[in-house]
Amino acid sequence: MFDFIWTFASHMTQEISQLKELLAFPKEISIVTHRNPDGDAIGSSLGLAGFLRKLGHNVRVVFPSDYPLNYGFLDGIQTSVVFDLDQNGAREAIDKSQVIFCLDFNGLDRIDKLGENVQFSKAKKVLIDHHLEPEPFTDIEFSETESSSTCELVFKVIDQMGYRSKIDPHIGECLFTGMITDTGSFRYGTRPYTYEVAAALKELGVDDYKLADKIFNSQKEKHLRLLGHCLANRMEIMKDYGVGIMWLTRKDYADFDIQRGDTEGIVNYMLMMEDIRVAAFVLEQPTIIKISLRSKGDISVQEIAQKYFNGGGHKNAAGGGVYASLGDIIDKVKKVMPQYLSKLADKT
Ligand code: 5GP
Ligand code: MN
Repeated sequence: MFDFIWTFASHMTQEISQLKELLAFPKEISIVTHRNPDGDAIGSSLGLAGFLRKLGHNVRVVFPSDYPLNYGFLDGIQTSVVFDLDQNGAREAIDKSQVIFCLDFNGLDRIDKLGENVQFSKAKKVLIDHHLEPEPFTDIEFSETESSSTCELVFKVIDQMGYRSKIDPHIGECLFTGMITDTGSFRYGTRPYTYEVAAALKELGVDDYKLADKIFNSQKEKHLRLLGHCLANRMEIMKDYGVGIMWLTRKDYADFDIQRGDTEGIVNYMLMMEDIRVAAFVLEQPTIIKISLRSKGDISVQEIAQKYFNGGGHKNAAGGGVYASLGDIIDKVKKVMPQYLSKLADKT
């Protein structure tokens, strides 16, 4: 019945033994994840850190940019370093490491300036990630695009090293976090194993109800006002092609006091319309235009992000950043989409 567990196990065997050997004695370790860390980046980094500390290692989690406040309750987050707030501290942590874990990202450009420190470090580098097409910058690679989340993959790696019993409820809570955030509460990106891991984590004491409440019901009034503004005043629908476009101007950023993380999740609302197949959210940030893309089913926004918006990601959730004007990027979205999507049949 559980054949697939063995199948997954078999192709990681060599990497698992290499990692076990690497972790056999206490070491200086840093864990790095991508800029604008989300639930999966944060949860996987903290969960792995908690586990490694149990093995006796000295571990530092390094975030390139600050984390959203609603994750502030997760175990170990207080001792993490944020590069944007403490550049020397972050660089020192990387430079003194004997082992560097790279979690939830597939290329050094996703960690900004820290990329140089990681690239030139003599430390052993370990990738644990579920994005498409990882760049070859690590020594040991756990890359599994079928994994719902990096958290799921961290669980799997720990489990296959034979250390499941080291996962306590605090570590479990961190790992469960990325699983619920990257799957939209188990609505997409799952596989049978995802539910096995969720079951195992619940079994060992994770309170999933309380966790989801802390993560999702933590919005301030301004977040809902901003959402209302986006839906009422900043949304355009390309009816013929099933595309929703939303945008925020620099002035919106000031008017709504938008901070990092405040816009997360808004793009997904457009997918709630039945005929919408692709959603694009264009953000006029201080120096760059950021775009978030989401799609349903077989449409790959990863391809679109990579080709037109200097980005990448997953098939159904991708993003990028371009130096251009807001209007230019909105126009570009409108021009590019018809090349990828056939016209929808007229229902009237
Ligand atoms: P979001 O739209 O939430 O910012 O990002 C969704 C996904 O797209 C992320 O998980 C990440 O994989 C990818 N992504 C977002 N921005 C970029 C970017 O600038 N470059 C690349 N390569 N991927 C991105
Ligand atoms: Mn992820």
